[in-house]
Amino acid sequence: MNYEVIIGLEIHAQLATKTKAWCSCEISTKAFENTKVCPVCSAQPGALPVLNEKAVEYAISSALALNCKINPHSSFDRKNYFYPDLPKGFQITQFPSPIGTDGYISIKDSNGNEKKVGIERVQMEEDTGKSTHMAGASLINLNRCGTPLIEIVGKPDIRDAKEASEYYKKIQSILVYLGVSHGNMQEGNLRCDVNLSLRKKGDTKFGTRTEVKNLNSFKSVEKAIEHEIQRQAALLDSGKKVEQQTLLFNIDTGTTKVMRTKSNADDYRYFPEPDLLPLIVSEAQIKKLKENLPELPDAKIKRFMQQYSIPYYDADVLTSSKELAQYFETAAGAYKGEAKKASNWIMVELLKLINESGSDIAKSPVPALELANLLNFVLDDTISGKIAKDVMQKMYDERISAAKAIEKMGVKQISDTSALEEMIKKTLTEHAAEVDRYRKGEVKLYGFLVGQTMKNTKGQGNPKLINDILKKLLDG
Ligand SMILES: [Zn+2]
Repeated sequence: MNYEVIIGLEIHAQLATKTKAWCSCEISTKAFENTKVCPVCSAQPGALPVLNEKAVEYAISSALALNCKINPHSSFDRKNYFYPDLPKGFQITQFPSPIGTDGYISIKDSNGNEKKVGIERVQMEEDTGKSTHMAGASLINLNRCGTPLIEIVGKPDIRDAKEASEYYKKIQSILVYLGVSHGNMQEGNLRCDVNLSLRKKGDTKFGTRTEVKNLNSFKSVEKAIEHEIQRQAALLDSGKKVEQQTLLFNIDTGTTKVMRTKSNADDYRYFPEPDLLPLIVSEAQIKKLKENLPELPDAKIKRFMQQYSIPYYDADVLTSSKELAQYFETAAGAYKGEAKKASNWIMVELLKLINESGSDIAKSPVPALELANLLNFVLDDTISGKIAKDVMQKMYDERISAAKAIEKMGVKQISDTSALEEMIKKTLTEHAAEVDRYRKGEVKLYGFLVGQTMKNTKGQGNPKLINDILKKLLDG
């Protein structure tokens, strides 16, 4: 391909406040339609908005975590457009002076190198209601009206689909770590628009861009980008122009369709919101929020690598969610062996069971301390490492402790030296002929004798002890 791909993402995140941005209505996705509304969020004449302080705190914390400068003096604006799920006829947002500007996050690019992606702005705004279209009717639910959002506008620093989804994942993870958003894409807590243009390699001027709206999974972000690159490249190759359009992506067909052509900022006739005072944030407030930021994913990755001596790959997987990171720390803390072992068991065995059963780590049938117990039983030779996987399966299926599962399965390893010695002696008597041949030089029969002993112990003999004792009896 002769083109360079220029991508910028706009991410909308619902803030997880209890109440809405400008009124005290509860935010609830489960409430009956149109029951969480009041004169303010249903836009009755004369009703006035009052800014939710918690939403401001969440927005500032997000902007700080995204390394933005906090604007001590920001303000709200009206973005005017008509849609039935927007009863005011405008959305309250921040246009010329958003709460945060000029930030960045670090991601891994397609070659695995660290890359900074710039963040142009973080602005506070509100969500709309929800329309449901059915045969012959459209239904409006205003429960979501006025839910506080932040929009995170990324700089056009992204160059391919993989980088875009890495960036999106990182933003999601940061917001969830902060506790400011649930970050659940299926429930619409987090939505993403992709801006994409192509330019000839070496050009400095940007090409005409299109915007693909409302992508609700990492996969749909990647697929939409791949499709849009192909579509724009084909247009440019055949000498045609890319039109500035807003598009909708259909993940089932893998294609986009045009929602509207040309959407310039001017169309919205932005003007200052007269019913809300400018938002003034003091240095002291910013400092306090900064000090209260939790440990964020990048810092946690670094700490995990140092504190637990695990490689980057492990630390990256284990910090991908706050719950998983917590699970690992609890398990590694209670396990008496090396943390890398706990990491392997979580990443391979546990996550496999969790993915297969469609569960999630927070509700894992095997709690972190029980996983540690299981591994400690391997460490002190109560059970063999080989049987531990079956024990784990039983613990998971029956939601029982490691000790209980071992007892129920009868797989406790025999590490009693004198008991083992008796069993080995019995084996050697049973196979006197092979013992004789072994002693005359057929050393390969050693493996056979180990196997027979194992069989006599029903697989529960401690392999190391069997080895020691058998050698002593045969060669000593
Ligand atoms: Zn309300």
